Amino acid sequence: MLHIDEATEQELVAMQVELENSYQSLKKANLKLDLTRGKPNTDQLALSSDLDGILDGDYRGEDGTDLQNYGGLDGITEAKLLFSQILDVSTENTLIGGNSSLTLMFQLVDHALNYGIDDNCLNAWKNEGQVKFICPVPGYDRHFSVCEYLGIKMIPVTVDDNGPDMNQVESLLKSDPLIKGIWCVPRFSNPTGIVYSTETVRRIAQLGNIAGPNFRVIWDNAYAVHSLYDNAPELLSIAECTREYGTEDSVYLIGSTSKITFASAGVAFVGSSRSNLDSFNKHLSIQTIGPDKINQRRHVLFLKDMANLKAHMQKHANILRPRFETVIALLEHNLAGSGMGQWSEPKGGYFISFDSLSGLAKEIVAMAGGIGVKLTPAGATFPKGEDPKDSNIRLAPSFDSVTNIELAIQAFIICVKLASVRQRLASEAGISKNAG
Ligand code: PMP
Repeated sequence: MLHIDEATEQELVAMQVELENSYQSLKKANLKLDLTRGKPNTDQLALSSDLDGILDGDYRGEDGTDLQNYGGLDGITEAKLLFSQILDVSTENTLIGGNSSLTLMFQLVDHALNYGIDDNCLNAWKNEGQVKFICPVPGYDRHFSVCEYLGIKMIPVTVDDNGPDMNQVESLLKSDPLIKGIWCVPRFSNPTGIVYSTETVRRIAQLGNIAGPNFRVIWDNAYAVHSLYDNAPELLSIAECTREYGTEDSVYLIGSTSKITFASAGVAFVGSSRSNLDSFNKHLSIQTIGPDKINQRRHVLFLKDMANLKAHMQKHANILRPRFETVIALLEHNLAGSGMGQWSEPKGGYFISFDSLSGLAKEIVAMAGGIGVKLTPAGATFPKGEDPKDSNIRLAPSFDSVTNIELAIQAFIICVKLASVRQRLASEAGISKNAG
């Protein structure tokens, strides 16, 4: 494939004409395609339809408790038994909540910021000054929204194939005790799909020993069991590392079944030290008399055990894999060697991260929108929506059919190429104007 840097002006002009034509005909095709959010598709949701009716009128928990009634603030025992295995902590270190892990993360951060983490709910982070969080970028937009909403200053740190740049993270933490947290999506990261390396996990588990007081890692392992391939990279257990380093207090492990069962009616969970959970329970008890224990019970009966859960996840993988492979094959076929973009090839999770030439992401997203292909807004993967290079675009291929994803990516590729060629021609025009 012709690399854009090697194309002559004449070749670029010819490409532009051809691409403009393709773009105009796509406009007439009235496409209505959406690659914005990582939602499970209807076939995936159908995998869990047996959740309905599974209780068959029996609302008792394993220990005989009537689950229809109030109580059980931190979840039912059998749910702790199952989901603690995803987190790799003991049942005593597990809390089972409602349907959303995002809610739990918001509550954990709000709690620490405004009320305090310690046993008596004193020592709120905010009492020390302007609280800051490290935000590995590109990252999950809703993590950044939590910070923005709560007035926490965000410090972006770059991510490579091993995870966040740990030299930068450690030196920031050593120099600023007001950095109280770091967001991490350690397996099949949103949006890059990377899996943190063993060394990165070990270094993150030790951050509690170098950071200021009450520092917390938000270990959002949303895609813990969401591999697309049997040989997908595994993640080292941070829980085990924290036990080794004595830093159990410094990590909140988070997960949910939003992408195991139902995105809107799953079960979310937290793993942490007993003292952290005791403190969080005090905070929770003001907000609720207890979570939806009936849904927790339904999930335990449906998912049964880890072996069954893994078999269930293979069914998800079988549905998702062709979608991911379609996107990657099209990008490879049309853009490899062109110098117009780079993309991730994740082995699990829900996203593919695309980096265009600098300064083009917003334009590409707008151009795609102009022909009926909705993409996640450019910049969304950065705090406050500000991508300094304006190059990252998150592609979410889970929801639509393979045929529609194919159409959407073909249209996306036209936009990437056209924007790149236009930019190159404009800069050549600028150079020759300056030279003249
Ligand atoms: N964390 C990450 C990294 C996610 O990608 C998502 C969903 N897009 C969530 C959390 C939301 O999880 P939940 O549905 O449990 O609130």
